[in-house]
Amino acid sequence: MRVCTGIGFDVHQFCEGDSLWLCGISIPHSQGLKGHSDADVALHALTDALLGTICAGDIGMHFPPTDEKWRGVDSSLFLKHAHDLVLKQNGKITHCDLTIICERPKIAPYRDAMRRRIADILFIPLNYVSVKATTTEGLGFTGRKEGIAVQAIVTVQSPYE
Ligand code: MG
Repeated sequence: MRVCTGIGFDVHQFCEGDSLWLCGISIPHSQGLKGHSDADVALHALTDALLGTICAGDIGMHFPPTDEKWRGVDSSLFLKHAHDLVLKQNGKITHCDLTIICERPKIAPYRDAMRRRIADILFIPLNYVSVKATTTEGLGFTGRKEGIAVQAIVTVQSPYE
């Protein structure tokens, strides 16, 4: 048995709007997030982390932002694709942990719904999914409320050495 970890990071900029997608749920907010897909920065970071566990490149390689096919698409599709690749190698997710970095929106009221949604997309127990949030104390682009950054890490168990 082998245990592999993958790390992911993504940033999306705020734009005009009244809601945004984060961890597969829609959150009412005074701004939206700019992106080619639904701009779910959290699911993108998580997808990259999952791809990292099997050395399968990054999300941009699998879903090029130049491809019109992915315009406005639900990012859970990206995550499911990465998970399918892991499953094909008999990998099993044993944990994932995300840190959402922003001043606004406040994450705490949505944390449990986010965890549940990720657990549902990946068909894993709720206690395998952690969602945390932090601010940068007003510093940098997240501090200036220009966008949201997300870090993700995933642990996968593989039967192969
Ligand atoms: Mg992205």
